[in-house]
Amino acid sequence: MTEDSSETLIPKVSTARRLDGTKVASEIRESLRSRIDRFTQTVGRPPTLGILLVGHDPGSEIYVRNKIKSGEALGMATDLCRLDDTASIDDALSIVHTFNRSDRHDAILVQSPLPDRMGRDAEQQVFDAIDPTKDVDGFNPGNVGRLVQKRSSLAPCTPSGVIELLDRSEIEIGGARAVVIGRSDIVGKPMAMLLLHRNATVTICHSRTVHLSEVAASADILVAALGRAAFVTRDFIKPGATVVDVGMNRLNDQAQVEALFGRGSKKMAAFEKRGSVVTGDVHPEVEFVAGALTPVPGGVGPLTIAMLMSNTVGAAEARLARGEP
Ligand code: NAP
Repeated sequence: MTEDSSETLIPKVSTARRLDGTKVASEIRESLRSRIDRFTQTVGRPPTLGILLVGHDPGSEIYVRNKIKSGEALGMATDLCRLDDTASIDDALSIVHTFNRSDRHDAILVQSPLPDRMGRDAEQQVFDAIDPTKDVDGFNPGNVGRLVQKRSSLAPCTPSGVIELLDRSEIEIGGARAVVIGRSDIVGKPMAMLLLHRNATVTICHSRTVHLSEVAASADILVAALGRAAFVTRDFIKPGATVVDVGMNRLNDQAQVEALFGRGSKKMAAFEKRGSVVTGDVHPEVEFVAGALTPVPGGVGPLTIAMLMSNTVGAAEARLARGEP
């Protein structure tokens, strides 16, 4: 059989159930409303998130705007503190210490990335400084340790959102073979830990993994978190597997978008309107092999914000239980 004839045997009918992150995120947000109302009535103010944004990174501006909008729509309060690009790491740490000491702030988020000129370990210094009980991103080393020990209350938002999506889509995690591509502190490692805690058998892959597609093709649940557009092709996928696409990659090249999605596709229409599109790490042809798949956008992205709201409410309630606010 020639390579060409094997290509023609791939069915061009989508086999993949779409895992709707927008819908699940909305369910999570709605489930928070009564808790937010109860906290507000008891304490006399809503759960409050302090956000530090340094500089003017366009992506960060959008993320922060969406976080504020989402919090306010639920009746929570957000305080945005902005620093200019020229701010020093000490300026950033001073804001974090102010939020740490504040009785009014239940939760703290420092938007990544910090400007390069702050230094290579600036983010780590800032995460180290955040009061672990207010650390809604779960990046403080204390919270990372608690996550490893399976006694975390504030786990990173994106991987927590993936678990919620799998659970609410009735995808069995226990006993499944899970492969996570990506080992970042923000997504890959905590994702692997959360899957492990749910009794999946977990493999973590990275840029030095040998025979990556073969390893990936052993997965019942494959999580792609590399930041490489359409890198995960159908040969990475066990037929019927659940594929979670965490990647968010902006494509500005019309030829690339057309090659991936085809002329007349929705993505091409979006590209023609906006001059760029966002796509995941998973190639569009995977929908013809996978059993379930998250779209990009509309998959993991909305869950990240929903879990931030959930962590903020959780942090506020925990402070109330300790008699702090
Ligand atoms: P990151 O810090 O850049 O980490 C990328 C990981 O992928 C690294 O561990 C890297 O391996 C691995 N990798 C890169 N190229 C690879 C290759 N060719 N083969 C195998 N592994 C490879 O990225 P991140 O912060 O984890 O984010 C990953 C993606 O998720 C990005 O697209 C980001 O925008 C997206 N994201 C989305 C959300 C959301 O809400 N949807 C949230 C966070 C992140 P090494 O460690 O060996 O370098």
